[in-house]
Amino acid sequence: MPNNEFAKIHATQLEGQMMVDVLVIGSGGAGMVAALSAKEAGATVAILGKSYPTRSQTSMAQGGINAAIGEEDSIEQHIADTLKSSQGLASEAAVEKLCRDGVEAVRWLDSIGVPFSRTEEKKIAQRRLGGASAVRACYAQDYTGLKVLHSLYDTCVKEGITFYNEYFLLNLIRQTDEKGKVTVGGATALNIKTGEVEAFKAKTVIMATGGYSRIYQKHSTNATGSTGDGLAAAIRAGAKLSDMEFVQFHPTGLKNSSILISESARGAGGYLLNAKGERFTDELQPRDALSRAIAEEIEKSGEVFLDIRHLGEAFIDHELPQERKLAKLYENVDPVHELVPIKPVAHYTMGGIAVDADSQTAVSGLFAAGECANHNVHGANRLGGNSLLELIVFGRQAGENAAKTAAAIEAVIEDPEQLKKDQNFVQGVKYFTNQIDFYEKRYFIGNIFYNNAGIKRNDMGLKAVLGAIRQIQKELPFMGPKDKSKSYNTNLVEFIEFGNMVELAEIMVVGAISRNESRGAHYREDIPDRNDTVYGAHTISWREDGVLCVDFLNKF
Ligand SMILES: Cc1cc2nc3c(=O)[nH]c(=O)nc-3n(C[C@H](O)[C@H](O)[C@H](O)COP(=O)(O)OP(=O)(O)OC[C@H]3O[C@@H](n4cnc5c(N)ncnc54)[C@H](O)[C@@H]3O)c2cc1C
Repeated sequence: MPNNEFAKIHATQLEGQMMVDVLVIGSGGAGMVAALSAKEAGATVAILGKSYPTRSQTSMAQGGINAAIGEEDSIEQHIADTLKSSQGLASEAAVEKLCRDGVEAVRWLDSIGVPFSRTEEKKIAQRRLGGASAVRACYAQDYTGLKVLHSLYDTCVKEGITFYNEYFLLNLIRQTDEKGKVTVGGATALNIKTGEVEAFKAKTVIMATGGYSRIYQKHSTNATGSTGDGLAAAIRAGAKLSDMEFVQFHPTGLKNSSILISESARGAGGYLLNAKGERFTDELQPRDALSRAIAEEIEKSGEVFLDIRHLGEAFIDHELPQERKLAKLYENVDPVHELVPIKPVAHYTMGGIAVDADSQTAVSGLFAAGECANHNVHGANRLGGNSLLELIVFGRQAGENAAKTAAAIEAVIEDPEQLKKDQNFVQGVKYFTNQIDFYEKRYFIGNIFYNNAGIKRNDMGLKAVLGAIRQIQKELPFMGPKDKSKSYNTNLVEFIEFGNMVELAEIMVVGAISRNESRGAHYREDIPDRNDTVYGAHTISWREDGVLCVDFLNKF
């Protein structure tokens, strides 16, 4: 479609108050898959994103996407590995769907043009990632996420899906009936370009805004935008969040920058060495156990390195070109000849918006997919390669179900109040007194989370973090953006993101304090055993009249 024609359609829709069947929030992998499937099911669809689709975090995925398509593998093995890694906290039905539909998901990606690496027989190439009992991750060199994301974007453009880029989700538009049932009717968003707050009306909404690992700030592999905005908006609107205390640490972040060195480096035969140059652990054990082993080794001997020198330059340049570039650029070492200093860093958030088997949340008409959702497939520890798979399998499901639900709705609910509230907030926040620098507080939270609510936790440390977070909540009115301009006010955007992170930080820590056991990524050094009798259950968080409530929902 010529650019001017696209611009005309875009403008008309804005003037006439944008109104669609399905509004997707987040233009990463999950959002685009959901939008394509909703469109295929006959719905009108638009995607709203705070950045540009090609910049979403999905582009950073390197290792691959799991599917049991190899001769030495089976769907049953994939299910068994995933359940084992989840440490008793995954839904068997959801895991079965993930692994069974995974085979078709990869075929579909292949059909839309994802340039998977190939074997000599022209089959999709696969590699073994940690915790997998077989070679299972399909990959495109170490640029898998980038290639998947760009192929999805091409397909969305081809299908004429409308994108609203540089729109920052503020809140969901909703209505509560006399019985207390909450229904969604769209969202409000800040147009970053103009500074105006606009309403996007929709019969159903799919939240696909990614995870919240940026709470750990410089100790995270994540994109700067992984601030959990969608989860925070969802709980404010009446949805529930689950298992928020489970944050996966990736064993091999670069020591200084936390940039990820993919698991594929270990999958290909890379070693982990301590300061004495000795191997000290099994490099292919699941991420939770390996991260702890590395953290303990760093405490003992001061340093841990990744060694891939023995793989040879030709192999590294062909199979791991990005890892070589990243190590050179960010750590100033060439892994072909030198050891790469690493440390475990916050990488993936297993917790998310609680959804049922149809990807529906506790708010009627609100669906969720991707890292912001909890489909109960990862439990207490995600397997590498299962996240890209999740966003295809459950992104498709969310899109289909949102379209079906929208088809049965005659009119969109009306709630002009939310728009007014958010317009007033965006106007008013610029006049906060600004005595305290929120960037300093953001940095502080990142450090206390890494040290006390990270790889190893204990009751005293967690309670200290909770106290600090509650103090910061009280201080929010004394912070705020210093930049008062309307157009492209990134200072304002970052302050709103900060508010969302603080909101989620409290929920994570309350969950971690309440879960008096160790399970997967949640390791309590004061209570190192797993306790299935009391805690073989999901942590559920919600708000009642603004008050945070937390409970355990037994899964057995
Ligand atoms: C470095 C790295 C490597 C990884 N490697 C692998 C791998 O090899 N295999 C694997 O399976 N997984 C991997 N993962 C995990 C996987 O990439 C992510 O879990 C997945 O891509 C998340 O996709 P998503 O669509 O849910 O979210 P994202 O891709 O994060 O997209 C979220 C979207 O929401 C938008 N958004 C957020 N907030 C707002 C807001 N307020 N308003 C509007 N829009 C908003 C963002 O701009 C973005 O477009 C890796 C992750 C990282 C960080």
